[in-house]
Amino acid sequence: MAGRNFLFIPGPTNVPDRVQRAMVGAMADHRSSTFPELTRTVLTGLKKVFKTGNGTPLVLAATGTGGWEAALTNTLSPGDRVLASRFGQFGHNWIEMARRLGLEVEAIDCEWGDSLPVGRYLEILEKDKAHRIKAVLATHNETSTGVVSDIAAVRRAMDAAQHPALLLVDAVSSLASIDLRMDEWGIDVCVAASQKGLMLPAGLAIVCASEKALAACEKSTQPRYFFDFGNMVRSNATGYFPYTPSLPLLHGLRESLDMIQEEGLENVFHRHHYLASGVRAAILNGWKLGLCAQRPENYSDTVSAIVVPEAIDSARVIDVAYRRYNLSLGTGLMKVASKVFRIAHIGDLNELMLIGALGGAEMAMLDVGIRIEPGSGVAAAQNYWRGNDAVPVKRVGGGDEQYAFAVSQEGNRS
Ligand code: PLP
Repeated sequence: MAGRNFLFIPGPTNVPDRVQRAMVGAMADHRSSTFPELTRTVLTGLKKVFKTGNGTPLVLAATGTGGWEAALTNTLSPGDRVLASRFGQFGHNWIEMARRLGLEVEAIDCEWGDSLPVGRYLEILEKDKAHRIKAVLATHNETSTGVVSDIAAVRRAMDAAQHPALLLVDAVSSLASIDLRMDEWGIDVCVAASQKGLMLPAGLAIVCASEKALAACEKSTQPRYFFDFGNMVRSNATGYFPYTPSLPLLHGLRESLDMIQEEGLENVFHRHHYLASGVRAAILNGWKLGLCAQRPENYSDTVSAIVVPEAIDSARVIDVAYRRYNLSLGTGLMKVASKVFRIAHIGDLNELMLIGALGGAEMAMLDVGIRIEPGSGVAAAQNYWRGNDAVPVKRVGGGDEQYAFAVSQEGNRS
């Protein structure tokens, strides 16, 4: 098919040309005397993205799932109790993994589309006077439902209950695209991956551990080798890795961190919010469809899960979009399979790329019989981005004032 594929799934995301070029090169010796410069540049850059002073970033040859496994196996021991919640596919997977690793999971089930049940977390933590719960698991951005949750509120609940558990956060689809503050929110292990906001191919789990988490590693009796934080931290301190690192991915990561730095991390968040708001204008005002996310304050700035009319199978929309228009949309997962399709707005994107995705989604929806007004989504997004039809959307976790500034700047374009 002529033309390029329009990739609008929530990872892998579009890899910028600059990053692609940085990954092309001859292989080199990862034990050479010049190699530590690359390691140090990457780890220093990651600290800024995690917003941490004392946290230790770790780059593992894995994906986000491997990052979770590393977080659980390094900080906990078999039989330890953890508190978790399930309101989408990724929360579900995390619970499943914890159980298989021999942890005892207290899982709170919520409706899909709901957000982190902070009130329930508080109740449970307050009752746990013996501090049997060793870790609280929290998904910052539930990619299957397009729901962002308030991690700062989880920290407040833990502090209010004076509970010493570790806070383990899944930031796989939020790091470097939605504001995340490792130190300020008291996150102990934060897990992300290369193929989302960091705009790289899959292949790296990007993790950050607090001092408290690294101290917990010393006590953990869970067997581990490849993912051992201790080995990694000791090797990284000398500028090297305990095993062969992926050189192209490290070069790509250095370039993507440079790009984020050049744009400014806060501007990256603002851009995501601004683009996501235009997409939401298309869905809600233009197409007059609903989002899976139940409340506006939980609308994700990296992915929107769109609910299709009951008589329609959302998988058909995705298939027609792909086969007929070369547009890749995100599928509905597990409980919301057939009910939603997702448009990702994460990574290296601008308005016109999203207009292409919205236009393609419109054609695919019309083709499978969804009665939307042709052009209505594109027009609503254009109006939003041109500053005429701003949708009031509140962000979780602060930053509204800055957002207002960014949008008024953007909205003033003529
Ligand atoms: N957590 C979230 C929120 C995700 O979106 C994903 C993947 O999309 C994962 C975890 C799993 O990451 P990976 O597919 O990189 O293993």
